[in-house]
Amino acid sequence: MNLAKRVSSLTPSTTLAITAKAKELKAAGYDVIGLGAGEPDFNTPQHIIDAAVKAMNEGHTKYTPSGGLPSLKAEIIKKFQEDQQLTYEPSEIIVCIGAKHALYTLFQVILDEGDEVIIPTPYWVSYPEQVKLAGGVPVYVEGREENEFKITPEQLKAAITERTKALIVNSPSNPTGMIYTEEELKALGDICLQHDILIISDEIYEKLIYGNHRHVSIAQLSSELKAQTIIINGVSKSHSMTGWRIGYAAGNKEIIRAMTDLASHSTSNPTSIAQYAAIAAYSGPQEPVEEMRQAFEGRLNIIYEKLIRIPGFTCVKPQGAFYLFPNAREAANMAGYHTVDEFVEALLEEAKVALVPGSGFGAPDNVRLSYATSLELLEEAVERMKQFMEQKI
Ligand code: PLP
Repeated sequence: MNLAKRVSSLTPSTTLAITAKAKELKAAGYDVIGLGAGEPDFNTPQHIIDAAVKAMNEGHTKYTPSGGLPSLKAEIIKKFQEDQQLTYEPSEIIVCIGAKHALYTLFQVILDEGDEVIIPTPYWVSYPEQVKLAGGVPVYVEGREENEFKITPEQLKAAITERTKALIVNSPSNPTGMIYTEEELKALGDICLQHDILIISDEIYEKLIYGNHRHVSIAQLSSELKAQTIIINGVSKSHSMTGWRIGYAAGNKEIIRAMTDLASHSTSNPTSIAQYAAIAAYSGPQEPVEEMRQAFEGRLNIIYEKLIRIPGFTCVKPQGAFYLFPNAREAANMAGYHTVDEFVEALLEEAKVALVPGSGFGAPDNVRLSYATSLELLEEAVERMKQFMEQKI
């Protein structure tokens, strides 16, 4: 069967690939510690689950409007107002099947063949693939490690061409955990305004911020920037609801209209029950969100100190999300591997620790460790990594 050209160059997610390999080893009886997870390890808070059960019992098990329930949109609007002092109309919001689907739909409606999207590296694995699926061309700009993996205004300017359609800003970032400051966002935003480049601001890790860092949306910085930005967010990471698949986009009415029309012919609507659960997530108590954040921060502080003591590892301390993104180039060299990819494979096979190689994120010298797992397992994993290095050098 000849598959469509569109999918011929599609690369499967590296995160999922390593998770699959770790599972295979586990099934074969090995004691593998997987640090590849991209989801909180906590269960969804009980009041959210209860709301979904109630919704089912009350018969909310039918189609909803394609763009989402008006009552959920109202909660999202309230959240934007309270958290970020941003005012949106229901026509400026679409509820999608996770933030991933919001991004997918967005690229489908804004990109023509050959349109370019600037993607700072290291990037979340799905951005380039989604851009390509929509006929677009990813243009990578290197977020250098010495600049906390963030791109500079000069780098952005140098990457702009006549075909540049959009810039992706993901702050806090997966995989680096870095957060752009207000000044940095303003400088990038001004360039986008000058060149009429749409800003796609993926704020899915908004609630996971550590130390004295602060999350600011680029859309908050001026009314012009708000008009130029589509915000992507959702409840997956904030409320530990990855399996419920509720995310959303907010911004320009025409874009949201087109996304809603496309959804009406492709997915119809996000699951009705999950939408009721998301209403409860936003309208109910927010303490569980803060409790999870504190748990992540506690783990980060402990595990970061241990990680940087492993020979050959250096790491910029993450400011948000739930990933560490150390540079393992030196460690790979010291242990006798040509590439960090080979090093990661050996770690899995010999030390039984599953990390995600940075090559999948456009940063081949780094590795990603998720700390969305218990502190006990994290400490054991880092100890195994240390012993692996000590044996090799
Ligand atoms: N954006 C980033 C940066 C992510 O890391 C993820 C999930 O891993 C998503 C979007 C998608 O989240 P959702 O579960 O809402 O589709």
